[in-house]
Amino acid sequence: MAVQKHKSGFVNIIGNPNVGKSTLMNCLVGERISIITSKAQTTRHRILGIVNTEDMQIVYSDTPGVLHPNYKLQQSMLSFSQSALSDADVLLYVTDVVEKLDKNEEFLLKVRQAQCPVLLLINKIDLIDQPTLEKLVEQWHGLLPEAEIIPLSALSKFNIEPIRKRVVELLPVSPPYFEKDALTDRPARFFVTEIIREKILLYYQKEIPYATEAVVELFEESKDKIHIKAIIIVERETQKGIIIGHQGQALKKVGTMARKDLELFFEKKIFLEMYVKVEKDWRNRDNMLKAFGYQVSD
Ligand code: GDP
Ligand code: MG
Repeated sequence: MAVQKHKSGFVNIIGNPNVGKSTLMNCLVGERISIITSKAQTTRHRILGIVNTEDMQIVYSDTPGVLHPNYKLQQSMLSFSQSALSDADVLLYVTDVVEKLDKNEEFLLKVRQAQCPVLLLINKIDLIDQPTLEKLVEQWHGLLPEAEIIPLSALSKFNIEPIRKRVVELLPVSPPYFEKDALTDRPARFFVTEIIREKILLYYQKEIPYATEAVVELFEESKDKIHIKAIIIVERETQKGIIIGHQGQALKKVGTMARKDLELFFEKKIFLEMYVKVEKDWRNRDNMLKAFGYQVSD
């Protein structure tokens, strides 16, 4: 009888913004861990999602999309993506059927040089027909000849199982890296801010969501409810006015949407209070970025 060995490893999900990385990660992990919206740059941090069974532990990590940094926050976001390249046991390089193949040659070069197995996942195949897909697969094969290609639709959960199966096969034999009952390395407060940020992204236009950060000031759990106080940080007074809206209507709507999601997430009644605060130019201030949990390079 063969001795069963425990398998464990880091499976890092990388790719350009908006290709469906967070949607895929949530399919793979089976919980709504990463926030998903149709706007690029929703995922600012690296988020781990952990799948445990008796004989294995898969540590998925979702990263912000690759982009060219033009302010400090973006620099920090990019460093999360680059570190995802170097510490993976398996790389899931996600692309979709709409993005141009040469969108990011520099990054592609790094993927080509990766020391670990790469699965090239072509997402959103619900949007195209079979012949178009076959052509796309051929083109990608030319670009990344070493990578195994799996087409999928994360949104309609099509072809997720083959990816999961292949990941398990590629996972190295190793003891677990985290407690076996861990679902994610992020604390509850992190999900509160992510859910609030998601609602801000959905509700407000243009630059507002990108100038916004959410901070949890109080998280008090009792037997039948959780009392949360959150502060929404913006860069300017004018943004504060927009967030709050006429007679506080906008903030109230966002608060209601966030509370509903929080109640689903924590499976408890939520009492949510939200305030808006101006921190001038926070995206360019190292101490602010550090306080929000971003890596600051210089
Ligand atoms: P990320 O920036 O790579 O993390 O992408 P997200 O997971 O946030 O998804 C970006 C957008 O693409 C969202 O509007 C998703 O609903 C959408 N999306 C994700 N997967 C699919 C898919 O398989 N098909 C289609 N049509 N849309 C998808
Ligand atoms: Mg994302």
